[in-house]
Amino acid sequence: MSWRSKKGADLLRGHDWAVQRNQNILLSGARIIDPALGLDQTADIFIERGKIIQIGEIERDELKEHVTIDMRGKIIVPGFQDMHAHFGQPGREDRETLTTGICAAAAGGYTGVAITPDTDPYIDNAGIVKWIQDQTSGSPVFVQPVAAVTRDDEGRRLTDIDDIYHAGVRVFSDTGRPAASPEIMRRALDYMKLHALTISSRTQEASLAAGGIVREGPVSTRLGQKPWPSIAESMGAAKLLLLAMYTGGKLHLEAISSTETIDLIRWARERGVKVTCDTTPHYLALTDEACETFDGNYKTSPPLGSESDREALIAAVADGTIDAIASDHMPLTGEECLVEYSTVPDGVVGLETSLGVLAKEFGGDKPDWNQLIKLLSIQPREIMEMPKATIKAGAYADLTMIDPDAVWMVDAKRFLSKGRNTPFGGWQLPVKSMGIINRGWLVLAPDARMLLK
Ligand SMILES: [Zn+2]
Repeated sequence: MSWRSKKGADLLRGHDWAVQRNQNILLSGARIIDPALGLDQTADIFIERGKIIQIGEIERDELKEHVTIDMRGKIIVPGFQDMHAHFGQPGREDRETLTTGICAAAAGGYTGVAITPDTDPYIDNAGIVKWIQDQTSGSPVFVQPVAAVTRDDEGRRLTDIDDIYHAGVRVFSDTGRPAASPEIMRRALDYMKLHALTISSRTQEASLAAGGIVREGPVSTRLGQKPWPSIAESMGAAKLLLLAMYTGGKLHLEAISSTETIDLIRWARERGVKVTCDTTPHYLALTDEACETFDGNYKTSPPLGSESDREALIAAVADGTIDAIASDHMPLTGEECLVEYSTVPDGVVGLETSLGVLAKEFGGDKPDWNQLIKLLSIQPREIMEMPKATIKAGAYADLTMIDPDAVWMVDAKRFLSKGRNTPFGGWQLPVKSMGIINRGWLVLAPDARMLLK
């Protein structure tokens, strides 16, 4: 079942991707952008067995045997790192396996993915963390399990944080379950300080959110659907921010979607609270009006917000209040989507469309690359205490390749993910990932294969 059995490479090859390992690679004439180094230049990169050896104008004759990718007009950036994806394995392999999830991530340009603990069994002990690490070891995408804060028994006891930390986990979150009590969260935030770790959390006050399926406002009224008030999110955020303020612990708020939550985060930061946050491409690109179609592909948690929420999120990205953009990739089976809107499970797939959707929202074919790379690559790694992915000689090659001129149409049938539940089906996107180079692997998209020699 593991990647090492080559299933993943076969899956990608079956979709016409080029997959190679342990080749020396010359990337010729690429625009290289690494905001962490203040780098934006056109140059060649030579990679020898997974390591960057040379950057600059490279003399071809002196190189060891290699393949060449003609990167003229294309962009190389530090590999994208997702903070939040739901893979179904173990327990819900019908939604996504570790292998299909890894392939979807690679296709979207991600070299790393943090996967959420809401599997069956739950990721609440070091044993299952090690099992996931073993299943995904050696894959082109680094899969990092996020472990649960509380045990899978109604959230009353903390997991064995020390044990899980020593198994290599750096982020803890109870995502996918009801929020633990403030008393438990206070202890968790305190405990995490021992290892300077971050608690990541959804922000939802269950009693206010209960049963709501469309954001409370004119649209929910018009549709006659049970409303989900934005205060369900901001109330949850306020509690967590006060706890972070009180304990001095580090807090990360996941998938924020409302104006009031952004205001609260600013308020807390002005007071020195150690808080970071992310939002998702769907909150930046869509509003509650999409729900009028009663198409289950627009059903998310929290539900899509109003146009003014969307504008507030875009402004918060621009001014740096929002630190990261996570896919919140949540694959569902075809059967799960074939039911009435109110009973479709929450969540949409995102790994394969994030880059294109964000580029579209932030400037079309000329987005602010520095800003996007900070949100997709650099800041997620900082928040999760991961090593940097830096484009310099001597570093391991952990790279995303981007074609900034590849206009393409989203067709869910072509996803590598098992999930087809995208809200962006049929969208024309201005930018496409060409694939990744990571951990000795080269994974190159079908339409970029002719650039490989
Ligand atoms: Zn999620």
